[in-house]
Amino acid sequence: MKSKRDYYEVLGVGREATDSELKKAYRQLALKYHPDRNPGDHESEEHFKEASEAYGVLSDPQKRRVYDQYGHQGLEGSGFSGFSGFEDIFSSFGDIFEDFFGFSSGRRSRSRSSRGADLRYDLGLPFMEAAFGAEKEISIEKMEPCAACQGTGCADGAQPEACGFCHGSGQVSRSQGFFTVRTACPHCRGTGQLITHPCETCRGAGQNRVHKRVTVKIPGGVDTGSRLRLTGEGQGGSHGGPPGDLYVFIRVEPHERFERDGTNVICQVPISFIQAALGDTVAVPTLTGQRKLEIPRGTQYGDIFRLAKEGIPSLRTGQRGDQVIQVVIRTPTSLNKKQESLLKEFQRLETGKLSSKIKNILKGESAGAGL
Ligand SMILES: [Zn+2]
Ligand SMILES: [Zn+2]
Repeated sequence: MKSKRDYYEVLGVGREATDSELKKAYRQLALKYHPDRNPGDHESEEHFKEASEAYGVLSDPQKRRVYDQYGHQGLEGSGFSGFSGFEDIFSSFGDIFEDFFGFSSGRRSRSRSSRGADLRYDLGLPFMEAAFGAEKEISIEKMEPCAACQGTGCADGAQPEACGFCHGSGQVSRSQGFFTVRTACPHCRGTGQLITHPCETCRGAGQNRVHKRVTVKIPGGVDTGSRLRLTGEGQGGSHGGPPGDLYVFIRVEPHERFERDGTNVICQVPISFIQAALGDTVAVPTLTGQRKLEIPRGTQYGDIFRLAKEGIPSLRTGQRGDQVIQVVIRTPTSLNKKQESLLKEFQRLETGKLSSKIKNILKGESAGAGL
């Protein structure tokens, strides 16, 4: 067995160190080597255990006296065997770890006053409501403090009694040699309280499952994946703890005409090939009604036009994006006799134009060859 380091040396304090100096020194070492901060680091683990053992002895006046007089051997002679593991350390110094970290890093099962859990609600939203905002009423199921007993779990306005087994501490001590180990009380399951006459409404739980209607104000510009937080609308806290939050996740339903690309709105507008060839003014739908759009002569299939600031407002700035219009050219499928003969005439003219072009090219070539 390797020789043990001096406890004062381990904590880096003098032999005259006061209780608060010891606590301060241990606090620094425990913060540095805490297993939650150094997961899987064996060396930190050893430092943490060593510091805990040193503090365990020196913070106890009786053990410190024995150690000061007889050293490590003196403690061994009195049955002290150190800690068996982290759970041991945490259950012995649980209160200190709460001081240190502001939460129960002692990993104990005390359940007094805790914040309620957060809730998630998935909300499908019509395209237009997502674009310009809406107010929606949703129904959620959650736990709330019992109104009949004010969350105490006791009938007739009584208060829970302190658990007689652990005297209300929620912990029981058991001696392990020279050392005392504390664990959660099995009678009150670590709460330190017992309910002798449970409330009939909540059967002593202090909470009830309720259906609640919540109004959600949805700002214009939300998109699929947007998340709204409703503070305090989550699960109720237990034993007077604050409630959790409700998160509403948005899913925007598709629109038959419009598509979204961030704050831009994309839509396709069909025109005839005559309109494409000659140009025209057409009416196009926007989110807020019809607008006129100039189609220039010679527009091609797929050409893109923009209507500025006819898109969706940005969640951050409120500035509206654009409407992007993609032109789709429709080919007529049923022609009457007159239309057909006019188109054939048009074709003849086009072919004529084409053949005279070819003649010119050929003429040019033969002229060149004749040089
Ligand atoms: Zn108890
Ligand atoms: Zn109740």
